[in-house]
Amino acid sequence: MAQIREIKKIEREKASIHSHITGLGLDEKGKAKFIADGLVGQVEAREASGIVVQLIRQGKMAGKGILFVGPPGTGKTALAVAIAKELGEDTPFTTINASEVYSTELKKTEILTQVIRKSMGVRIKQKRTVYEGVVKDVKLKVARSRYNPYYVSPREAQIVLSTKDDERTLNVGDAIAEQFMKLNVKKGDVIWIDAETGEVTKVGRAKGFEGAKSYDIEVVRQVDIPTGSIKKEKDITITVTLHDLDLNLAAQSISITALFSFFTEREINQDIRKQVDRLVKDMVNRGDAELVPGVLFIDDAHMLDIEAFSFLTKTLESELAPILILATNRGITKIRGTDIESPHGIPLDLLDRLLIIQTRPYNESEIREIVKIRANEIDVKLDEDAIVLLTKLGVENSLRYAVQLIEPAYIVAQRKGRESIKSEDIEEVSKLFSDSKRSVKYVKEYENLLLK
Ligand code: ATP
Repeated sequence: MAQIREIKKIEREKASIHSHITGLGLDEKGKAKFIADGLVGQVEAREASGIVVQLIRQGKMAGKGILFVGPPGTGKTALAVAIAKELGEDTPFTTINASEVYSTELKKTEILTQVIRKSMGVRIKQKRTVYEGVVKDVKLKVARSRYNPYYVSPREAQIVLSTKDDERTLNVGDAIAEQFMKLNVKKGDVIWIDAETGEVTKVGRAKGFEGAKSYDIEVVRQVDIPTGSIKKEKDITITVTLHDLDLNLAAQSISITALFSFFTEREINQDIRKQVDRLVKDMVNRGDAELVPGVLFIDDAHMLDIEAFSFLTKTLESELAPILILATNRGITKIRGTDIESPHGIPLDLLDRLLIIQTRPYNESEIREIVKIRANEIDVKLDEDAIVLLTKLGVENSLRYAVQLIEPAYIVAQRKGRESIKSEDIEEVSKLFSDSKRSVKYVKEYENLLLK
């Protein structure tokens, strides 16, 4: 299992423009509150999503998926994020646009497999032997370079660790000594040293060491002095995705020289994936791990072709499937790669398995509230006039346009020595940054000029 221990949580695809969303904002009866958990309005779609969450929890969504249908900027992505949040903090969430499936470098089934495996979490429980205690003393031995006296490298360290009932002097080598230097470990810090990997973690500072004058102490988190002996077993849970495990195993099984091309091409061998699946299954059977199906959100789903759709249909039937959420703003259209017309450009056999949820355009008061929530999320103050103007721009152009103007307007305000945004700042940036209607009109006019 050593290979799994090495894995650091790889940063997931972040939906930062949706970071204000913490859930669906429903009451105990599943009714949507007008504003809650960062969501505003879109009441029916939120209540429908709440039922979907319950179906997922009861295991009744197996083999099925969700389709959000509605105009652009009506919160389809926002609702998918909210569903993932309702399922739990460590639920993986992956979002792609269907056009990303058609890369020139990789096969579309490879891209789909990768996003599917990025959306499948594995919660791994581990027991680790650690040395845990308060640092009472550290003696670091360092080597100084003959050529550059400022260059010092750690060689070894002697650490005195103590708990309420135990005290030990540990002699450690350069790897641990180096971490001590990097982490700037001081007297009074409570630390863990993983007995197997040698990884050092600073847990916090012990109470009662505040007055250790010879150090400038920055109190990060105060913790009680641990009790018991220094060497102990700890239960640790980490969540990784199947894709993280694939990458990790693939990186171990290739030579250093091949590593570079591996990370640029990013195609993962099927044998690696089979090995990972076997490993995970064994861990699940032993009770050392749990599968956490995440959410895979595919926007503009009508841009997928018939092969991609049949691949997704097959995935829905498999054991290791994430929750599939598709979104589209198209009505009847041709299924890509065929001459067949179908609702939303989706083949009927897949459509039959999808629960369809509609989203509708926002009204003025909803846009106003969303603008306020976003400003609050990024810690920016808006004057009342600025809110009114942004709401107007949201109604006339799009919600996304209004939301995207907040940060540039803040820069303009700061340049004028202000911390809060006035309507003049919004006016200024709305002249500098165009919305899509205006930019299309501009290109048309430009074409006309060229034709003259
Ligand atoms: P779609 O997927 O339908 O195009 P979206 O979710 O991507 O829509 P955006 O147009 O990007 O929506 O929305 C702009 C901003 O408004 C985003 O920050 C989004 O999180 C937020 N937002 C959208 N709908 C809601 C809502 N009902 N409540 C709160 N915030 C919302």
